[in-house]
Amino acid sequence: MMMDAFNRKIDYLRISVTDRCDLRCKYCMPNSGVQPLAGQEILSYEEILRIAECFARLGVSRIKITGGEPLVRRNVIDLIFKLKRVQGIEKVTLTTNGTHLAEFIDGLSEAKIDAINLSLDTLNPELYQKITRRNALPKVLEGFQKALDYPNIKLKINCVPLGIPEQNLLEIAELAKNHPVHVRFIEMMPIGLGRNFPFKSETDIMQELEQAYGSLEPFNEVLGNGPCRYYSLSAFQGKIGFISAMSHKFCDSCNRVRLLANGKLKTCLQFDHGVNLKDIIRSGSSNQELEAMIKQALESKPREHHFTKKFITETETKSMFQIGG
Ligand code: SAM
Ligand code: SF4
Repeated sequence: MMMDAFNRKIDYLRISVTDRCDLRCKYCMPNSGVQPLAGQEILSYEEILRIAECFARLGVSRIKITGGEPLVRRNVIDLIFKLKRVQGIEKVTLTTNGTHLAEFIDGLSEAKIDAINLSLDTLNPELYQKITRRNALPKVLEGFQKALDYPNIKLKINCVPLGIPEQNLLEIAELAKNHPVHVRFIEMMPIGLGRNFPFKSETDIMQELEQAYGSLEPFNEVLGNGPCRYYSLSAFQGKIGFISAMSHKFCDSCNRVRLLANGKLKTCLQFDHGVNLKDIIRSGSSNQELEAMIKQALESKPREHHFTKKFITETETKSMFQIGG
């Protein structure tokens, strides 16, 4: 079992496989001028597998594949297939914008992916285009529909409220009414371009939902990898969840670390702390040395984020598409 300096059990690893994306969500990635990592700066799948095996030996049992957009990296299904077979890894899940979901859902199912989080902020094609700067909603909805045919893959919708009146959160919530999926609202975090958006809190969204559908009843089971708190609404098939890093800080129970596409092991979303495992691997280190570096990095995992403080000194300068959420 892997514990950090604050006695938190770390058993969940998010792996970003690419910093490339086919969308340009305004709160995540600039429209132009982004220089993607060069091929040799990115961890190869062999390197990712080796690192995942080290983490599994140290006690990590769940892995999330993210990006950029993970489905734009070639053969990512093959990586998922292999990660699922790493001893000690119980669950491998994926976060995707869904533009390539229809194409890959079969392969994902064959690779035995456990769950997919689909990011979807609106069902309105014009607003979708405005937020993502791409006209991809029909493809995403096709992927969503197709994914519903795979009951062995747990499907969740992730929606980031942008604090703009055009965004109809009720129509997103209703995906959980009309389909057996959970819908989670994720508070915008002041990371990268996310800083430019007005903040809409969990409380505001709850009020909106309760006015429309009646009271939200707390649902006290854990349904995923951590910080989401779920509620039931009568007549809804799925739950409504909230991941509220700002208004309901969950650092005390943080169970995760992040491996970025460039090999950096990032121990807290906000801070630029961490070690580059790619450099360690490529310098010819043994697995034992690699595991020692991982443990050492964990010792300096910060206690908590300081997003709500006005003046912060050591903040992360990367954007979400480079971190993976
Ligand atoms: N491209 C994939 C996707 O969109 O699901 C995976 C990577 S994306 C960075 C992961 C998640 O981070 C998405 O659900 C996205 O909405 C969310 N995200 C991006 N910037 C954010 C921010 N500033 N605050 C909160 N969530 C953010
Ligand atoms: Fe791409 Fe996901 Fe960021 Fe949107 S949120 S730009 S889909 S990485």
